[in-house]
Amino acid sequence: MTYRAHIAGALVFGAGLCYLEERAGIAWNPIIVAAGSILGGLLPDIDIPRSFIGSRVKWLSKRIHKRFGHRTLTHSLLFLAAMTMLFGMLDYNLGLSVGVGVLSHIVLDILTPGARGVALFYPVSKKRVYPRIRKRRR
Ligand SMILES: [Zn+2]
Repeated sequence: MTYRAHIAGALVFGAGLCYLEERAGIAWNPIIVAAGSILGGLLPDIDIPRSFIGSRVKWLSKRIHKRFGHRTLTHSLLFLAAMTMLFGMLDYNLGLSVGVGVLSHIVLDILTPGARGVALFYPVSKKRVYPRIRKRRR
C-alpha cells in the first residue's frame, strides 16, 4: 500500500478520534490530531528502507529490516502500544493520535489483498493475521 493511502487512512481514523474525544468532552487540537495520526500512519513502514519514512532514517530502517523483516515488530500490537505511550508522554492527545494512526496502518495492511497480512501478535507469535476468504463452490 502506498504512503499516500496510509496518510488518507490515518486521517480518517484521526477524524474518528476527534469525534470520540468530542463526545467524551476531551479537549483536542486538530493540528496535533492530524500531525500525530499521519506520523502514526507512516511509522510502521520504517521497516522498509525504501519507504517514505524509512528512506528518511535509512540507517535505522536498514537495521530494523535486517533484524525483524517486514510487517512484524512495527506492525504489531506491541508497537501500537509502545508508540501510543511514548508519544503520550510528550502529550496525551499526541499519543492517542499516533496510536490511531498506527492502528489505521495495521488495519489497512491486514486488508490489503494478496499481501498476506501482518504479524499482529509479534513477538509472541509470528503468525500473520489476514482475512481468509474462501471461494464458494457452485
Ligand atoms: Zn505497512
